[in-house]
Amino acid sequence: MSFPSRLVLVVNSGSSSMKFTLLPVGGGEALVSGVAECLGLPEARIVVKENGTKTVVDLERGDHAGAIAALFAGLDRKGVLDRVAVVGHRIVQGGDVFQESVVVTPQVIADIEALAPLAPLHNPAHLVGLRACIDAMPGVPQVAVFDTAFHQTIPPAAYTYAIPRSLAREHAVRRYGAHGTSHRYVSHEAARFLGLPADDHGIVVAHLGNGASATAVVNGRSVDTSMGMTPLEGLVMGTRSGDIDVGAVAHLARVTGKDIGQIDALLNKESGLLGISELSNDCRTLEAAADEGHAGAKLALDVFVHRLARYVGALAVSLPRFDALVFTGGIGENSARIRAMTLKHLAVFGFDVDEVANAAICGGKAGVVGRSAGPIAAVVPTDEEGLIAADAARLVGLVNANDDEPLRVAAVV
Ligand code: AMP
Repeated sequence: MSFPSRLVLVVNSGSSSMKFTLLPVGGGEALVSGVAECLGLPEARIVVKENGTKTVVDLERGDHAGAIAALFAGLDRKGVLDRVAVVGHRIVQGGDVFQESVVVTPQVIADIEALAPLAPLHNPAHLVGLRACIDAMPGVPQVAVFDTAFHQTIPPAAYTYAIPRSLAREHAVRRYGAHGTSHRYVSHEAARFLGLPADDHGIVVAHLGNGASATAVVNGRSVDTSMGMTPLEGLVMGTRSGDIDVGAVAHLARVTGKDIGQIDALLNKESGLLGISELSNDCRTLEAAADEGHAGAKLALDVFVHRLARYVGALAVSLPRFDALVFTGGIGENSARIRAMTLKHLAVFGFDVDEVANAAICGGKAGVVGRSAGPIAAVVPTDEEGLIAADAARLVGLVNANDDEPLRVAAVV
């Protein structure tokens, strides 16, 4: 494969894994992507995908720095390492410090570190990856792109929890939201794709993957979202409960004797689709099982859809006008069944499902799946890596800041 002269590397560093994608400056398909996994364990390895082929290599040094070293050695062998002009990092929690993506400086690192109590599993892991990249390529600028930044336009009435204000202030307890990069990309693309004026539209984006959230977007700005201070609130997810009465949580703690850490793990890792179905967190598995009469799988899908429809209705009231409901994420992009169930559950809006188009849209296609007298229902595939790369390139002046963002819906049905 021939590589363009300037490349953006996107890094998503977790505690035991590190995902990476190499993209051309200015947008386009991923050239190389992959993941270093089992970091910190003897079986640490790096999986690299290029041109549809996958190679798996054991890591000599099984930490984040070792993963970066292996990735860079691979890029060097291809003769393209020195074409990496900027690195974009996904950062889960930017608190109320970061309203947009920024070029990384020592102060930015200190701020991300200071925000770690709000995302104890994520921010420290991001910093390990960020520091490994800085050490490995000191001359290359690094850009931080925050999952929370898009939601910083949410007004106080929507982000404030009804708890004593002094406590909320002291411990920074409020709604921050998540999946902001996806909601920003998808709402922007949906407005363009559906021909809605940039300064006069109202959209609800439903990002439905293993993690799931829905956001109300007015003229490109987030005004309310289902995720809260942490990614536990809101929709039913693969293994996360989403909303639950905190009184029920207290009751569970009392009757089971579990401590707060165990309850936290129960709600984050053993609940959601997995907990209800007692079968799987995977929507495909549940759809197949429901077809064979598995009652738990059917109930899990019904609860998922009910919660989603309830949130779409709730978020719609934050819009001056409801123009579009847009599905995205692994489930939103691929499950015609969940989309149809949701639109039927939203009978109050009078959606007419286009069964043919709905059945045809999967695997990264965009299109309209339902219409009503009010909102349109559509699918727009997300591209978080693409947007991180676009922000990174723009912030270091590799693309003109006045250019329209190099975003593009891949295929239209
Ligand atoms: P994500 O976290 O965005 O990768 O999404 C993962 C979820 O998408 C899992 O629950 C998958 O079962 C679901 N998914 C992917 N493809 C399909 C499909 N064809 N039908 C239903 N669900 C799907």
